[in-house]
Amino acid sequence: MIGVPNVGKSTLLELLSGGGISGRLAVAQVPDPRLDMLAGLFHPKKVTPATIRLTEVPGLLPGHLEGGQRNSFFDAVRRSDALLHVVRAFGDPAVPHPLGSVDPLRDARLVEEELILADLERAESLAQRLSKKHPRTREEDVQWEVLGRCASALSDALPLRRMGLSEGETAVLSGFGLLTLRQELLVCNTDEDTLREGRAFPDLQDWATSNAATLLVFSAKVEREIAAMESAERGEFLEAFGLVEPGTDRLARAAYRVLHLVSFFTAGADEVRAWPVTEGTPAKKAAGKIHSDIERGFIRAEVAAFQDLEATATWKALREAGGLRLEGKDYVVQDGDIITFRFNV
Ligand code: GDP
Repeated sequence: MIGVPNVGKSTLLELLSGGGISGRLAVAQVPDPRLDMLAGLFHPKKVTPATIRLTEVPGLLPGHLEGGQRNSFFDAVRRSDALLHVVRAFGDPAVPHPLGSVDPLRDARLVEEELILADLERAESLAQRLSKKHPRTREEDVQWEVLGRCASALSDALPLRRMGLSEGETAVLSGFGLLTLRQELLVCNTDEDTLREGRAFPDLQDWATSNAATLLVFSAKVEREIAAMESAERGEFLEAFGLVEPGTDRLARAAYRVLHLVSFFTAGADEVRAWPVTEGTPAKKAAGKIHSDIERGFIRAEVAAFQDLEATATWKALREAGGLRLEGKDYVVQDGDIITFRFNV
């Protein structure tokens, strides 16, 4: 989670953690109605949703970070899988903006420029190091070539995720810690009135589109009120804002999406649980999310699709309808698969 100071990052982090925050780290639950339905069928002792970990990186004031401070800022960002970039659209005389005025588009640009600049420095220095190396391996040749193209895109102020790199090219860059290769969620923290009127941010939306970021309009203040409400009140309140669900739920889900995560489920009398895996994960590797022994001793996966269970309504009917199939280690886990792993240790 990045952004200039006083835009609402800490507030948002606290909201997303549901109060369970420690320092600058929060664990947010990813809401999923399918889990509730599974819990209704299996009556487990425990229901465990998927979670995402959020870390707030101390406020970046572009142009004001020096040497070591700047490096430690970028090192912190490098440890992430995706960026949640917060900009501020709420005016509040009690909360001065460090740049003197409220301008979410300016904030977005400034922070992105810093990231692009950091990537440019890194891409250039890596490419230079490789160009001096003789002889180069075939792999180093490819790295050098891709880094050169990256440097040129970055000099045109293009974040790397906009370059349309192939999966192979992205893999070549994976060890280099380039920041703008990460997917970005742009959260515009606005005020109550703007949210109620459903006013859009066309300039910010254009910027997000041309920087391949996903824009979410949000109000930390409204969210704080929602979080403090009893669930009965909550529905009515959300409706008054034309919302279907709390913004924190929307955000957790969006984060899940930009990370290209899908969920498979395990379901039984002890626990119903959602497990996040990256799209395209094979069954054997997915088993390893639960326990390394299950991956090592993997025999088969018994798989049912959530929508089939929804259609047949009970596990017994699903089984009778032939809704359970056996899959091998290379089967690609699909979102909503309910899986029982068979393994041997
Ligand atoms: P950070 O520096 O980006 O982490 O910002 P904080 O979350 O600490 O927020 C800075 C100040 O702005 C705090 O006093 C918050 O209570 C206040 N704040 C955060 N979000 C909102 C909002 O949506 N509306 C208003 N009016 N104040 C907010």
